[in-house]
Amino acid sequence: MDETFRCYACGTTATGTDRQRCPCGEPFWMDTEPAGFDWPTDGDCSMWRYRDLLPDVTPSGLGSAAGGTPLVRTTRLDESVGAEVHVKYEGGNPTGTFKDRGSAVGVAAAVATARDAVATVSHGNMARSMAAHAASEGLDCLVFVPADIPKERLTLIDRYGPTVLRVEGAYGDLYDESLGLEDDHSVTVVNSDSPLRVAGQKTTGLEILASFAPEAPDAIVVPVSSGGHASGIWKGIEELLAAGAISERPRLFFVQAAGCAPIAEAWGRGDETVTPITPDETVAYSIANPDPPSGNRVLAAAQATDGGVLAVDDEAILGARRTLAEQSGLFVESACATVLAGAGRLADRGDFAADDDVVLVATGSGFTEREHEAPTVTAPTVSLDALDSAVAERIG
Ligand SMILES: [Zn+2]
Repeated sequence: MDETFRCYACGTTATGTDRQRCPCGEPFWMDTEPAGFDWPTDGDCSMWRYRDLLPDVTPSGLGSAAGGTPLVRTTRLDESVGAEVHVKYEGGNPTGTFKDRGSAVGVAAAVATARDAVATVSHGNMARSMAAHAASEGLDCLVFVPADIPKERLTLIDRYGPTVLRVEGAYGDLYDESLGLEDDHSVTVVNSDSPLRVAGQKTTGLEILASFAPEAPDAIVVPVSSGGHASGIWKGIEELLAAGAISERPRLFFVQAAGCAPIAEAWGRGDETVTPITPDETVAYSIANPDPPSGNRVLAAAQATDGGVLAVDDEAILGARRTLAEQSGLFVESACATVLAGAGRLADRGDFAADDDVVLVATGSGFTEREHEAPTVTAPTVSLDALDSAVAERIG
């Protein structure tokens, strides 16, 4: 595979394999020629249904099962958002998060270029996803984690048998350091905003838009951390517009946790670049990135789509997580409950009309997340003899 890469910021192009960043410092994304694209009609239910807009790789194993997640019309959430709410449930992916879309492309590319291994800098969902997809293809998977990683998170990653290296020193610097490994070793590095990953994660946007085409939803609300997923969704929208497959551009809103919100803070100041911060603790640790590598690209996406970036606090996030479970039946991780909390804020300030279609991207299942609250669950005990009357008391 020999692909063309383009810088979203300055337009510089490059060719080859595994190109990551433009000389200007911004991330490349993979250039796709959308002309001639039409909505597919074949029976493939996975993300590979959009292979015409994906890198020239052939998926197999777990990768062929990525994507194709449900878009659920969640009428009971309409009141809290003040619009017609749809939830794109990424928990339907093989390892329970949207990360599988990017891992599927990254691992398939490593196979296509005969690499022995893949690698990623992650201590959460992406690490698990990469390890799973590599295991399925018989590739080694190197996972670089912080030296002080909590044991329960290490356990979740280790299930798939990767080689985990605890790395001492500044974890933020490791991201750039890891990219150089491709030059000297038979490895494909698939970090959070790598072009291969962003290309795969573009399919979240394509799938959402397919449900509304040739119209588009009024807004899509996405949690944001490194900015890789946000970048992919934006790229997908622009390609569909260029192909004439949709008639209008949905507004893109991105949500962070207030404890670690460098992109939202930059947006609030009207800046075009993100300044790294020293973060506070947040329950939404999956999206707590104090120095997001695609942060500037997220600002550009919000600007280009007449959207925005905002932050919500932990109390709102935990409340939204509960509301999502109790009013839509979807149990999500705290990081993606930010979208419901954020949508409520947007509604309060008048961003949505009652008949607007608003899509909340629930990026991952909550089943692998440790509980934040102490257990406070109480349930009455009844004897077998009293069962009938207990039910009568509750539902008549
Ligand atoms: Zn550039």
